[in-house]
Amino acid sequence: MIAIDERGYYGEFGGAFVPEMLYANIEELRSRYLDIIQEPAFQRDFRQLLRDYAGRPTPLYLAQRLSERYGFVIFLKREDLLHTGAHKVNNTIGQILVAKRLGKTRIIAETGAGQHGVATATVCALMGMPCVVYMGEVDMARQAPNVARMRMLGAEVRPVTSGSRTLKDATNEAIRDWINHPEDTHYIIGSVVGPHPFPDMVARFQSVISEEIQEQLDAHTGRSWPDAILACVGGGSNAAGAFYHYLNDNRVKLVAVEAAGKGIHTGHSAATSALGAKGIIHGSRTLLMQTPDGQIIEPYSISAGLDYPGIGPLHAHLIRTGRAMAVPITDEEALEAAFFLARTEGIIPALETAHTFAALDRAGVEPGQTVVVNLSGRGDKDLGTYMQVIEQQGW
Ligand SMILES: *Cc1c(COP(=O)(O)O)cnc(C)c1O
Repeated sequence: MIAIDERGYYGEFGGAFVPEMLYANIEELRSRYLDIIQEPAFQRDFRQLLRDYAGRPTPLYLAQRLSERYGFVIFLKREDLLHTGAHKVNNTIGQILVAKRLGKTRIIAETGAGQHGVATATVCALMGMPCVVYMGEVDMARQAPNVARMRMLGAEVRPVTSGSRTLKDATNEAIRDWINHPEDTHYIIGSVVGPHPFPDMVARFQSVISEEIQEQLDAHTGRSWPDAILACVGGGSNAAGAFYHYLNDNRVKLVAVEAAGKGIHTGHSAATSALGAKGIIHGSRTLLMQTPDGQIIEPYSISAGLDYPGIGPLHAHLIRTGRAMAVPITDEEALEAAFFLARTEGIIPALETAHTFAALDRAGVEPGQTVVVNLSGRGDKDLGTYMQVIEQQGW
């Protein structure tokens, strides 16, 4: 049975490794999150916003031309059609409703690529709550359009100038803020990472994805389960949502797609399950890319959303126990897959999602089988990168 235990572990991965000064914040959340999200009134509010505001259910689309090309039946779960363009809003809607029920009046978040920052700023505007987003100075320069979006939505984006001025420094600043404002502030974490109960809470909010897949697949095919589900893994929230209701159904192969960057062994990669070892990052024990003496190795991927040195504890467990298969995909392969999808189905995927499509012929799927690809987000934010490929390589 794959499920989180009372201490917040999936097997040997997970837990809550937090400084003493954060203990009260985490304990408040841990002791109340399940009761809150199981309340009928919470579920009513959550479901209503997912439907009327975010645009759920998202379609499960039978990709005819793609299926012909591969020789198996491919369904696309269209999270790219959600408000804000990706799955992340499922989680931020859930967490802001939890924050309100905890009596919090202020929201903080950290962001690397800016996608989680935008999804957080969006729900804060919706609820009329002040929002501070910490972002490394380097990332702010690289992701200027998302900085503009957050500001337009009324969020305060605070530049982080310490360390390498990227995501992990922004995380440290957010944690410092939370320690200083334990009473009124909730910290919205954007993936299935961080100390318990965040990985479980985020997985539950994203699990609406596989809940819908079951129903929609049954309507399409008369069978509620596919032979395989593919999803890309940065921290692992879209994958956790797509896998969730199939975790204990061994008929369904789970395929976790990682960013191999310029190649797993080039030193420019984010293939955490291939390169990582057990360690503690952002408050949980998981797999992470580190030197022999435990220093975190800077990850690299062409896609900002997969550029993370760790992986959620659920995925570490799934991969290390053999329940999920990890497939590494390079920048080049992802770009090729993005153009192929665009020209075969008329869908421009996010760069993160493009990795998932590149794994279609590496997942060991047999002819005639049924596959679901979780199409985590749309590619508008990556058009600059795609344009460079068109200009430089003539695609
Ligand atoms: C952020 C993001 C991801 C990676 O995050 P996960 O938590 O691993 O899902 C993947 N796809 C898109 C479109 C994203 O915006």
